[in-house]
Amino acid sequence: MAILMDGKALAEQRRAELKNAVEAYKSTAQRTPCLNVVLVGEDSASELYVKNKIKMAEVVGIQSKVERLHAECAQEDVLQRVDALNEDPCVDGILVQLPLPKAINADKVIAQIAADKDVDGLTPVSLGNLIRGIDGVRPCTPRGILTLLDHYEIALEGKEVVIVGRSSLVGKPMALMLLERDATVKVCHSRTQDLAEVVGEADLLICAIGQPEFIRPEWLKKGVSVVDVGITKTPKGWVGDVCAEGIREKVSAWTPVPGGVGPMTVISLLENTLELAAHKK
Ligand code: NDP
Repeated sequence: MAILMDGKALAEQRRAELKNAVEAYKSTAQRTPCLNVVLVGEDSASELYVKNKIKMAEVVGIQSKVERLHAECAQEDVLQRVDALNEDPCVDGILVQLPLPKAINADKVIAQIAADKDVDGLTPVSLGNLIRGIDGVRPCTPRGILTLLDHYEIALEGKEVVIVGRSSLVGKPMALMLLERDATVKVCHSRTQDLAEVVGEADLLICAIGQPEFIRPEWLKKGVSVVDVGITKTPKGWVGDVCAEGIREKVSAWTPVPGGVGPMTVISLLENTLELAAHKK
């Protein structure tokens, strides 16, 4: 029987644990952890993601604030806002919601976030720590995926893992985190030749391309575990990168879309926030 890796249920369970940990932190530190989100423009998907993060922060007892900037604001305005948050001793975590408007250089903005407030784990310092295997904040989506895989006892050591998608947000940090766990990792992208063949070699497949139902069940090796990160709204509803039809017959474990990776990303963000607060000097 194929296992459904239920990210929604696991995130709920971890939420309860995190709530207790936040309570314990508050009573010892005599302060409340605080997450600040910088939201530029009015992208509806970003609005929804931020709303979700804020709501969940409230549920676990983490204070949160959203700093809104106009879509046409200058890059300097965003950098100044980040600087102000870097300086604010009440702020533990700074998250700049991506994507940013095209006129703003996202790499520059992310690099401006102080390493000890980098709740998304995406600054050059955090990613450098990841490459060197130094402890630090890890990016939320890969962290959530690893938590989910560990919960369902999916073996990683020595396994052939194929990641489709090489973004700095998901694919690249995921590859590094799986190397830390002794998996053999292959990363595919839009120029990969014979994608179906490479996908067919995977013991564990992680897809993050944002192309609805692009990966076909017939490509998969029998018994593979599949993590579908992609999420796209289509006329028939939200779908992942992997065509869900007929997948149960092929896989030993898989994540649903929605209700798989998404809730694990949010809980990882809040876990990162508490960890940053706890490490504050
Ligand atoms: P990006 O657009 O930054 O990267 C997409 C990657 O997919 C690129 O590396 C691109 O290759 C590759 N790609 C695109 N089309 C193909 C193809 N046909 N074959 C092979 N590779 C392809 O996306 P993100 O990593 O930010 O996000 C990917 C998906 O995951 C999106 O649907 C997003 O919404 C979702 N997501 C979900 C999260 C969650 O919490 N559930 C969190 C983050 C993302 P190349 O580099 O060659 O262009």
